[in-house]
Amino acid sequence: MGRALIIGCGGVASVAIWKCCQNDKEFTDIMIASRTKSKCDDLKKRIEEAGFSKTRIETARVDADKVEELVDLISSYKPDVVLNLALPYQDLTIMDACLATKTNYVDTANYEPEDTAKFEYKWQWAYRERFKEAGITALLGSGFDPGVTGVFSAYALKHEFDEINYIDILDCNGGDHGYPFATNFNPEINIREVSANGSYWEDGHFIETKPMEIHKTYHFKEVGEKDIYLLHHEELESLGINIPGIKRIRFFMTFGESYLRHLNCLINVGMTSIEPIMFEEKEIVPLQFLKAVLPDPASLGPRTVGKTNIGCIFRGKKDGKDKNYYLFNVCDHQEAYKETGAQAVSYTTGVPAMIGASLVMNGTWNKPGVYNIEEFDPDPFMDRLNAFGLPWQEDRNPVLVEE
Ligand code: NDP
Repeated sequence: MGRALIIGCGGVASVAIWKCCQNDKEFTDIMIASRTKSKCDDLKKRIEEAGFSKTRIETARVDADKVEELVDLISSYKPDVVLNLALPYQDLTIMDACLATKTNYVDTANYEPEDTAKFEYKWQWAYRERFKEAGITALLGSGFDPGVTGVFSAYALKHEFDEINYIDILDCNGGDHGYPFATNFNPEINIREVSANGSYWEDGHFIETKPMEIHKTYHFKEVGEKDIYLLHHEELESLGINIPGIKRIRFFMTFGESYLRHLNCLINVGMTSIEPIMFEEKEIVPLQFLKAVLPDPASLGPRTVGKTNIGCIFRGKKDGKDKNYYLFNVCDHQEAYKETGAQAVSYTTGVPAMIGASLVMNGTWNKPGVYNIEEFDPDPFMDRLNAFGLPWQEDRNPVLVEE
């Protein structure tokens, strides 16, 4: 039994909220608060009309860039946990408000200053002592990647290995939305991520690559053969510290030929820049303008077919012998849409967000301070993945990504 305040009401939040309502024994009360209140009201109406949940839903408007507004809202609603599903730019203001009100905090993406396109954990890790002193828990990165990938790593370390030396995280979206170019989650965040330099973690430090410089192919179960590209990704930073004995971690994502052709063209003409420019006497940021003309990710749900397959291939040692082990989940876009009204990319992030919030809210994961997800006991999370729509699969003899 608990109360959650959910901030943001976009693609990921809509799934997390739907799932909180399915888990109505734990989430007895939720408040949905976002910049555009009408979106919160529409979702509340949709859930109440579907009639499957006893969760009491309230809605509010909040500007999560403003700490005072957040503090007022948290103080009046008194949630057991705040689930931040707005954008990475709001992480620190929401953490400040949680500190001021002594409320637990959960998010799915690490802080990124709006004007530098560089995401790192250092800003959020700097809150560790203050959260500890306040006696509250901050769970960072409870989406799929980061999120389930960290839980998979903790689970593999606990049950399958004495030591993990190599992790390859493979994020495959085999979905087709029929547009020549669209992004499956917030376009601004997505394009900032994929147009940045790549990097991987090796022997205690990052090795940087040019964007999309390292390219391989991999055959994914239930999806087929795909091109995969090495990207920098935020969980590399925390897993590099939290997995003892780790020598290398790489992150690969699939991209189709049409997506890359359009992205390269947009980069070449300057449309992905975050440097403000003057346009008809008004300052605009090209990437924000691009976001405004691209399809809204929320509109992709009905038209996306196919599956995602996301997981981790681990290589390490067990009882003195070399061992390989692959943990992954396959999620069907149309099934996710039929259940929640959102496609699988929002679904695979929203379900773990609800699970992380539930474990913090009910005290299973109660550890005052600021922690990444792999620092908690993975077992209750793994059980809940199976119970709430993201069952995991194992392969004890996986094909490895070529060197
Ligand atoms: P959307 O753009 O669909 O939704 C963002 C929501 O946040 C919108 O409702 C928006 O309001 C709201 N918002 C933005 N700014 C503010 C503000 N200042 N105050 C209050 N509300 C605000 O994004 P997604 O749902 O796709 O992504 C949500 C988060 O999930 C992002 O941080 C993203 O990085 C993360 N993510 C994590 C993944 C993982 O696996 N870990 C994978 C995919 C996403 P409005 O409606 O007014 O625009």
